[in-house]
Amino acid sequence: MNNTKGTAAAAVTAAAGIVAGYIFPPVCPVCGGLLASGEGAVHRDCLDRLSFVRAPACSCCGRQIITGHQRLCYDCSHSPRHFIRNFPALNYDDTARRIIADLKYRNRRGHAAFLGRLMACCYREELAGAHIDCIVPVPISESRRRDRRYNQAELIADALGEELSLPVNPHILIRSKKTKAMKELGAGDRLTEIKNAIEAGDIPDGIKRVLIVDDIYTTGATMEACAYILWQKGIESYAACACIGSDY
Ligand SMILES: [Zn+2]
Ligand SMILES: [Zn+2]
Repeated sequence: MNNTKGTAAAAVTAAAGIVAGYIFPPVCPVCGGLLASGEGAVHRDCLDRLSFVRAPACSCCGRQIITGHQRLCYDCSHSPRHFIRNFPALNYDDTARRIIADLKYRNRRGHAAFLGRLMACCYREELAGAHIDCIVPVPISESRRRDRRYNQAELIADALGEELSLPVNPHILIRSKKTKAMKELGAGDRLTEIKNAIEAGDIPDGIKRVLIVDDIYTTGATMEACAYILWQKGIESYAACACIGSDY
């Protein structure tokens, strides 16, 4: 796949899908205001506030590269990667941060459907051709699920799966314990900490390649830990996320 062309085309396709009213949350995910009937998924003015990932992008994690002409971003060139390729939809700017915060902490579950469908709009062609057996959401701990009552990555995965006609299996990876505050850890320690907190769960026979889905991708440590654990079980991974942090 030509990454540069693919990313630019994905942004245009996604914008067209939204304008056409392809995505229908009850409220505008950007401003939180109600949408009038026939207005589509997002207010027209609010659409312009979404920052789609555009070329040039890292050929591994898909984030926009801002410095020079390198093929990989800083994190991907300095850390192991056991996923084949990550597909990010939006840059994690203030607008995306607010959408994710509403989804995670203010019970705006409809935003997950919006984000999952947005990801499908961006990467339908690439993901359809990737021969994926099922979608695996990045797991959260049971205590966090009790507090929040849902796993936002799983809700996003459900919407994406529906769009791509792919099954979602939230039991393949499980989070067996909570992680420490990641900000206090360096890159290597962060990866080790997450690898120790996630383990393989119930993997059905015949699963050879999966798509791991998360809401936010920052350093890639969580996605890498998930892909590594599956790789140990002989399973290949693609990855997809609603938002991705910027390159350094
Ligand atoms: Zn709006
Ligand atoms: Zn990268």
